[in-house]
Amino acid sequence: MAAADLAVSLTDVRKVYQVGEPVYALDGVTLAVPRGSFTAVMGPSGSGKSTLMNMIGCLDTPDEGSIEVNGREVTGIGERERTRIRGDEVGFVFQTFNLMPRLTAEENVALPLVFKGVDRGERSDRARAVLDRVGLGDRLDHLPSELSGGQRQRVAIARALVGEPAILLADEPTGNLDTETGAQILALFDELHAEGNTIVMVTHERHVAERAERIVHLLDGTIERIEQLDAAGVDADAPEARAGEGSDVAGDGEGAEAAGDGEGAEAAGDEADATGGDDA
Ligand code: ADP
Ligand code: MG
Repeated sequence: MAAADLAVSLTDVRKVYQVGEPVYALDGVTLAVPRGSFTAVMGPSGSGKSTLMNMIGCLDTPDEGSIEVNGREVTGIGERERTRIRGDEVGFVFQTFNLMPRLTAEENVALPLVFKGVDRGERSDRARAVLDRVGLGDRLDHLPSELSGGQRQRVAIARALVGEPAILLADEPTGNLDTETGAQILALFDELHAEGNTIVMVTHERHVAERAERIVHLLDGTIERIEQLDAAGVDADAPEARAGEGSDVAGDGEGAEAAGDGEGAEAAGDEADATGGDDA
């Protein structure tokens, strides 16, 4: 696939954490994310899912390999430029929402635009429009503590979308929500995908991953296999279903068994909403 059709492209990306013994969090990952695609990432706890998302989102840099976001190489560039790409090209949604507790829904959503120097009137217009899009047009002035979990996640999704990013990255977006509320958030992702947004979503739940078009299975920092799904969420990677399937994806472990994906939810990294401490 031509580079211009890719939202993100990773080539042989490696990340080693050295805390005593070296941990190969990503051990040679090559992955192409086409524009407008919906990809799920599954794998056991510690398999490198969050590290992968952080690399794509320019929150961290690889030790080796190349990452292109929206056609732009993001490894080896300066911090200033990385910050710009992080702000302009990437929208992040976290399990714990990570909203600013003292800001209203509208202010939370407008915040990324403050950092981009967008003037107040336009910030407000854009924040309201995107909150309206996620069904919260009547909750503009509510604080996070005055919203339900599902509503908080909608605010976080609106905040991720307000800058019109090339890619929406969601790390366990339904992990803190009950089944019903999680289903509503997944329905919203379906709609956003249908509208042309590119989505990469980490989950450890099979039924959540099946909302995507394909599932990238990570194991020990490598892609164990990539599973293509048809619209009904059935594995279309069986030989009889594969005819005509474009293989735009370089995975490095074809045909292995699915990774065990049944680990419990990982410990939430932070509880910004509850404690008032926030890193957003
Ligand atoms: P997952 O999201 O799939 O649970 P992570 O990407 O968070 O996995 O972590 C992959 C591996 O890298 C794990 O073994 C983890 O302990 C290690 N790791 C992640 N971040 C760090 C870090 N900042 N320092 C040291 N080790 C880390
Ligand atoms: Mg993780």
